[in-house]
Amino acid sequence: MAGAAWRPGGTRPAPRTAVPSRGRTPAKSRARRSVAIAPPYHGIHVAPLQREHERIKWMRDTRRSDRVRVRRHTCDCKETIYELCHAGGLLFIRRTVREPGGPVAHETERLITVRMEDLWMRLILGQAR
Ligand SMILES: [Zn+2]
Repeated sequence: MAGAAWRPGGTRPAPRTAVPSRGRTPAKSRARRSVAIAPPYHGIHVAPLQREHERIKWMRDTRRSDRVRVRRHTCDCKETIYELCHAGGLLFIRRTVREPGGPVAHETERLITVRMEDLWMRLILGQAR
């Protein structure tokens, strides 16, 4: 039986003396973040009020409807915040002014969607206030 000679140690892998690498992690493929996709820090800011503008009639916050959904609102970095609210099938704008004694809220009359969205746009553009 002339079998293959088994030589002890003959097929042993060469001892590795490599020093474990430190610090250098393989470069990960960085997720590319688009600036455009990132949410902006600020919300809508109302434009400076134009000289000729419509005066909105602000009434005291009546809180007459419980279910109010805020559709849009201006940035809350400002003292005055405007909210386009939806309640009972109608829209109105709520204006909240942060005052030292607490927030003071006023509301517009309630109008159908198209008309109030129009007023909201003019408010944002500085054409109504
Ligand atoms: Zn802001």
